[in-house]
Amino acid sequence: MKTYLVTGGAGFIGSNFVIHMLSTYDDVKIVNLDKLTYAGNLENLKSVESNKNHVFVQGDICDKELVGRLFGEYDFDYVINFAAESHVDRSIKEPEVFASTNVLGTVTLLNAAKSAWEKDGVWKEGAKFLQVSTDEVYGSLGDTGFFMETTPIDPHSPYSSSKAGADMMVKAYADTFKMPVNITRCSNNYGPYQFPEKLIPLIINNCLNKRPLPVYGDGLNVRDWLYVVDHCKAIDMVARNGRLGEVYNVGGHNERTNIHIVKTIIAYLNENVDETITEDLIKYVEDRKGHDRRYGIDPTKIREELGWEPETMYEDGIKLTIQWYLDNKDWMEHITSGSYQEYYDRMYSGR
Ligand code: NAD
Repeated sequence: MKTYLVTGGAGFIGSNFVIHMLSTYDDVKIVNLDKLTYAGNLENLKSVESNKNHVFVQGDICDKELVGRLFGEYDFDYVINFAAESHVDRSIKEPEVFASTNVLGTVTLLNAAKSAWEKDGVWKEGAKFLQVSTDEVYGSLGDTGFFMETTPIDPHSPYSSSKAGADMMVKAYADTFKMPVNITRCSNNYGPYQFPEKLIPLIINNCLNKRPLPVYGDGLNVRDWLYVVDHCKAIDMVARNGRLGEVYNVGGHNERTNIHIVKTIIAYLNENVDETITEDLIKYVEDRKGHDRRYGIDPTKIREELGWEPETMYEDGIKLTIQWYLDNKDWMEHITSGSYQEYYDRMYSGR
């Protein structure tokens, strides 16, 4: 039995990871520590509610006492740190919480793992701290080239800067204390359970409610999209077999402009749901401050070293995803009630 501390496991990728791991392995126990911010949602975990190998703990990764107590109570083999403030627009409005959760929270976890796993310079056999990071730490690309693991860190937003800060602290624990770590840097994920402030669920939800579809700038910013379960599989592979101290980029060479994504969703909903959902709903809005133009991942290292390949082609994944939101309207309704509306009005009113 391997015991995992998964943080942020009630969020989008974290919940997909927990579900993936528990449905794939019988010998995995997951302690899921999540603060349940606006982005954390226990409904994401319904399918594992009664799984005896899943323990949910509501709490903050910055809470030293709680994190220390969990390390005392459980003999963790892995820490997989998903917990983060993750939305760039929010980071522009409220950078402090990004520095606190993303940087200081990560340091709190690193300290607790070090106390539990290291004795006189010797580390617990097989233990590993895996930091789930993002390609955004590399900054922005021009029309050509890809992010490699050797690309210099050059973050631009408070979000990506806080993630880069966390990455550097993880690297520091590896360099200074020989802590067994890996960092994964993945491109944009899409799939079930994503909070509808992010492009794909936002556009689906607005289409279904016949609301304008806000598209930043000229809509030609490029992101490299990966189906979330493929990301979860990559994290599992890196945790088990990644070389200690290494960074692994994760992406599927699937670059799309934002406007392409928006038009794909409109076309699907127009054909399958309601023919009054059309491109007339698109509303170009003022560009995001410091908006990175293009992200593109070179995944050669993870493919060659660990044999990871994306399994879900974008053409299938995007349909699966749209259909999931259509089939789970209750989930969407619950998550978009209350404070979501206040947030939405603050972000998009007057645009
Ligand atoms: P998310 O915002 O959907 O989920 C974040 C989760 O962390 C939520 O459940 C939230 O409640 C929890 N959380 C926030 N602050 C916390 C704290 N202080 N203590 C404990 N829990 C806390 O984010 P996501 O999209 O699932 O991203 C997960 C991780 O993957 C993040 O670290 C993010 O930087 C990284 N990542 C995301 C993407 C993407 O496309 N979404 C791509 C690459 C990397």
